[in-house]
Amino acid sequence: MIRIEQLDGLEVLDSRGRPTVAATMVVKPGVRVSISVPSGASIGKAEAQELRDGGRRFGGFGCRAAIASILGPISTAVARESFENQEHLDTRLCELDGSPNKSHLGANAILAVSLAFARAAAKVRKQELFDYFASLLPESRPALPQLSVNLFSGGKHAFGQVSIQDLLVVPSKCLSIADQLAVVYEVYQNAAAIAAKRYQSRALTADEGGLAPPFKTSAEMFETAAEAVEAAGYQLGADIRLAVDVASSHFVQPHGSYRLDGQTLRPNELIDCIAQWAETYPLVSVEDGLSEDDWTHWPDLRKRLNDGTLTLADDLTCTNPERIRRAIDFAAANALLLKVNQIGTVSEAKNAYLIAREAGWKISVSARSGETEDDWLADLAVGWNGDFIKVGSITQSERLSKYNRLLTIEHEFESRFSRLQP
Ligand code: PEP
Ligand code: MG
Repeated sequence: MIRIEQLDGLEVLDSRGRPTVAATMVVKPGVRVSISVPSGASIGKAEAQELRDGGRRFGGFGCRAAIASILGPISTAVARESFENQEHLDTRLCELDGSPNKSHLGANAILAVSLAFARAAAKVRKQELFDYFASLLPESRPALPQLSVNLFSGGKHAFGQVSIQDLLVVPSKCLSIADQLAVVYEVYQNAAAIAAKRYQSRALTADEGGLAPPFKTSAEMFETAAEAVEAAGYQLGADIRLAVDVASSHFVQPHGSYRLDGQTLRPNELIDCIAQWAETYPLVSVEDGLSEDDWTHWPDLRKRLNDGTLTLADDLTCTNPERIRRAIDFAAANALLLKVNQIGTVSEAKNAYLIAREAGWKISVSARSGETEDDWLADLAVGWNGDFIKVGSITQSERLSKYNRLLTIEHEFESRFSRLQP
């Protein structure tokens, strides 16, 4: 049993300078923890709803109403109460909200309390946070994830200069986290130098720290990534693979066609285009190749991608158990992008995870484009044995806090997480 003594909420700023929610929880015996939650920009329609203030302040993004949820109804219901475990608290929070998408109290408020409880429970048990997350699963096998790191950005994370949202580099999983980061650094520096030379401008970066040169097409983004890998002295395929977040929900047209880099494509034409990328480049995964509502064509895309390329669902599934079950029934994907704030509590994210794992899916544990310096996501990825972690680029402290936490885990628990060198 863990008794929540006190709960506090605070509006803090995220990496876009927008407000987000932080919570502080005091539990017996005198344990005090704080946590903050992230926020997306390319948001799926089925995501749990954040509570935002609207109006002029912070362009409507203020979180005072969400903080009021924590200080008011949530504190009244959970402070000075004892909870058996994470599920017990999370169920109470969902019941208290009562809406299908957490719109009453706000998913940002609810998640902050759910995560604060996780951090507090780990501290009470004198556990590392990753071990606590692992203990929530029926079988616990913490492991270090493979990095998938944002190199170039477009879409909603940049200025929409190209339609696709992220092109990522994925170093070999035989490497330690420290060596994966060193490889990524070299590729990133070469990509920045190529971009500066070709576009005569200092590399501008996007929300997640990815480079955002004025590419004319997505194809140019792929070509430049391959060039940067080669310039860094690595072999594409053997040393490094690529991954893409097409984020096509954000350029689908009202009648179901897609507007990619100024061209209108029918779904099967977009599938052809993606299949062509996967034939030309070693692609680990294609995320949101089709839009969140295009259930009919997702299975076609999955069939077209060979076994080496995962069909990764983000907006399609929104870390939502019901949508994941549907995607499994449709054979629409074979990998889940797991974002805890898409569903709103740790326990519901765990259920989403277990359903996907049961179906044999791979898991990529993901940050959001609006992040804070909090590093709990790294522990989640390790505790839940994420196949990949997607945190953004290797610049900007809100991204680095997660990479640095992975480095610390790797270092401090070396014997538990050693990797075979190639
Ligand atoms: C994504 O789409 O995978 C992503 C991380 O972006 P956002 O947080 O803006 O949804
Ligand atoms: Mg995505």
